[in-house]
Amino acid sequence: MKNISFQGKKALVRVDFNVPLDKQYQITDDTRIRAAVPTIKYILEHGGAAILMSHLDRPLKKLLPDGSLDKERFTLRHLVGHLSELLGRPVAFCEEAVGPVAEQAAAALQPGQVLLLENTRFYKGEEKGDEDFSAQLAKLGDIYINDAFGTAHRAHASTTIVAKYFDKGAKGFGFLMQDEIDNATRVIDNPDRPVTAIIGGAKVSDKIMLLERLIDFVDNLIVGGAMAYTFLKAQGGHVGNSLVEDDKLDTALQLLDKAKAKGVKLLLPEDSVIADAFANDAQRATANSKAIPDGWMGLDIGETARRQFAEVILASKTLLWNGPAGVFEMPNFAGGTKAIAEAVAQATGKGAFSLVGGGDSVAAVNQMGLSDQVSYVSTGGGAMLEFLEGKELPGIAAMH
Ligand code: AMP
Repeated sequence: MKNISFQGKKALVRVDFNVPLDKQYQITDDTRIRAAVPTIKYILEHGGAAILMSHLDRPLKKLLPDGSLDKERFTLRHLVGHLSELLGRPVAFCEEAVGPVAEQAAAALQPGQVLLLENTRFYKGEEKGDEDFSAQLAKLGDIYINDAFGTAHRAHASTTIVAKYFDKGAKGFGFLMQDEIDNATRVIDNPDRPVTAIIGGAKVSDKIMLLERLIDFVDNLIVGGAMAYTFLKAQGGHVGNSLVEDDKLDTALQLLDKAKAKGVKLLLPEDSVIADAFANDAQRATANSKAIPDGWMGLDIGETARRQFAEVILASKTLLWNGPAGVFEMPNFAGGTKAIAEAVAQATGKGAFSLVGGGDSVAAVNQMGLSDQVSYVSTGGGAMLEFLEGKELPGIAAMH
């Protein structure tokens, strides 16, 4: 967007303001709004006006009993006050995202002014990527800026289709989007070696594509979280009642074979913190991850695994972390995730580049107060995963 002149222009900006709200409609985490502020300010400071559009939640999937939209709950009006504070200037709100009312409000905007449109998902055309709805959105601005990395993997009207109504010189990525792309690219393209990916979380099935792709270019692949038990069982281990995807045992074996063939060191947790129930106050013990008694389940990586993983992390020059190493939401099973977060932060302090991408590992580094000790924390869960899987995201492709 630095190559675009905003002077006297109206910029239609797709932001990701899909923030969590409490029952009183107060914002409980404003990270996504803050992340869009530099782009909005740049436009305003360069003589432009900003017309902001975003979705909030999935209002069409959560209709009122009479089948109508729950506008009170899902209106973006809830965000106006806080956004004004962050921008240090008033923000006008339009109750429509398209149509005559929105067109009038957009036309009346003066340089330096901000207009927030109503929730784009109040319209069926948004998620369908409807051409007519996209064209109506496009009418509102002279320039289109996409700063919503979190939805870049969706070919929706406001994230993708709308872009085709703008000439190449009149559309671009916002700073957040550009940062996300640059940081993810740094991991994939010619990274400093050794490269280590740390993948955790619940299911192998969610991350098969990612694991496949990572094995193509990483030096070390650390697998933690519940998904490790599918690998351990596939290798003949006894994992008790740990979470296992029995229909993915073959996939796990194939991934292990592929890693071996490519010379990638694939590390699984040698030991586990096990529990006799899925609860923070369950009885706990430590066991070899391949000899977990029946009635017990692995809920975190053990001390030996933490040490081994940390050693590999500390010897790495590029790190990618996605997914927690255990049930970090329960304090008694957060130790492994904490150890990984600390090792990643320490390696970063020694000069490694570290990218934390994906919802729960982001929550984990934030919870541990380490987010400013890693190189980059991604705002886009699904979008970051798909980018790292090597897919071309529709929101990015639409700018070409
Ligand atoms: P994902 O969304 O795939 O990254 O998965 C994150 C979830 O995996 C978190 O809610 C964790 O509590 C959960 N998780 C991590 N390790 C385990 C485990 N060993 N057993 C059960 N759930 C786990």
